[in-house]
Amino acid sequence: MKNSDLIQRDLSVLWHPCTQMKDHEWLPLVPIKRGEGVWLEDFEGRRYLDAISSWWVNLFGHCNPRINAKIKQQLDSLEHVILAGFSHEAVIELSEKLVAITPPGLNRCFYADNGSSAIEVALKMSFHYWRNRGRPGKTKFITLSNSYHGETLGALAAGDVALYKETYQPLLMDVITVPSPDCYQRENGESCATYSERMFQHMRDALQDHADEVCAVLVEPLVQCAGSMRMYDPVYLKLLRDACDEFGVHLIADEIAVGFGRTGTLFGCEQASISPDFMCLSKGLTAGYLPLSATLVTDEIYSAFYADYQNLTAFLHSHSFTGNPLGCAAALASLAIFEQDDVLVQNLHLAQHMARAAAPLRDHPHVGEVRQTGMILAIELVQDKPGKTPFPWQERRGLSVYQHGLQNGVLLRPLGNVVYFMPPYIITPEQIDLMVSVATRGIDLATKPER
Ligand SMILES: *Cc1c(COP(=O)(O)O)cnc(C)c1O
Repeated sequence: MKNSDLIQRDLSVLWHPCTQMKDHEWLPLVPIKRGEGVWLEDFEGRRYLDAISSWWVNLFGHCNPRINAKIKQQLDSLEHVILAGFSHEAVIELSEKLVAITPPGLNRCFYADNGSSAIEVALKMSFHYWRNRGRPGKTKFITLSNSYHGETLGALAAGDVALYKETYQPLLMDVITVPSPDCYQRENGESCATYSERMFQHMRDALQDHADEVCAVLVEPLVQCAGSMRMYDPVYLKLLRDACDEFGVHLIADEIAVGFGRTGTLFGCEQASISPDFMCLSKGLTAGYLPLSATLVTDEIYSAFYADYQNLTAFLHSHSFTGNPLGCAAALASLAIFEQDDVLVQNLHLAQHMARAAAPLRDHPHVGEVRQTGMILAIELVQDKPGKTPFPWQERRGLSVYQHGLQNGVLLRPLGNVVYFMPPYIITPEQIDLMVSVATRGIDLATKPER
């Protein structure tokens, strides 16, 4: 079997996600035969270092023997069962673990099968909570500019990445969008903390003006990942927690991308020492193996739905694969690795190594910023360094970095003009050096005026 045979078959029947399919007339699709650790291997034996954890999901490498074993074991006893009226051991054990490791107060787990659905669950539950509590006038949500919460219509409405959202605007509910505390926008010489704190005034004003009609504020803690890996200071989350309490509005933490160690702590919220009312988890939940998501809530949220059936206050929401046992087994295997290995401590060293390796890029004439939060490091390419003028999007400079990466054995997938690393936690310092050097060369080539 050759790559080209598969590509031809693929392109005659598939429609790929987040892709202008016409690009594949000149941009080769990469069929993968097998994965091992950080490596993906195509059908001709070429290997690619997965520097983006296959869209931010993989934690402990591809075909991790410990996770594989647990899934195989689960497969031989139960592959799936309806979760309404029925239960199973894996979902119970996983729920106990999630309640134990998430910030205090999040004591209930509701499952779905992808991140967007976890967001839909949180939005519907928050609205429904206020309705059950006799506040039907609370129907709106506050979100940050440049945020991303998924692709289904509710989650898309709550996000703010124009490229994904604009086309569908007529279909979307109205949300209140508050300027992001994104530190890339700070003044010269201003600290990230000062800027994030200063930007909180917009959120405070919005809460003050709209508290009566607002169900919840929805944020991605610390890093707006799909929004070009823009980062902000934990102080913002602290202020937000206090203000949500003051104005009687829920706080929904979307930890779908940043959860499970990406930011250096197990959850981003920990860096602000806060507990949200809702926490959405997916992506790394199963170490990137299987589609599964969870929305965790407090006892207070749960109690607003708990009543005699005739009251009609139950949350009548479900997905066919809710709490799938194979996904739960993968999640348990992943959490066992966190327990058995010193993952967060090892990650601290890897993050420091990544910082050192990428440091020289700060002086690159076309790099506007190198920023990092834990195991996420991002490099902002600019046309003009002093003014941070972006390259026109039509030039697709990031795509050139992607192509250079593929030709040199590294899977990078820049977001527009932002090249970033979000590798699996089993990456070695040597592999980090390879990843950064290929990206650096790719950036050199991609930012030349004449390419
Ligand atoms: C990926 C992502 C989602 C959506 O998850 P899907 O599983 O792709 O639907 C939501 N929020 C954030 C922050 C994400 O990164």
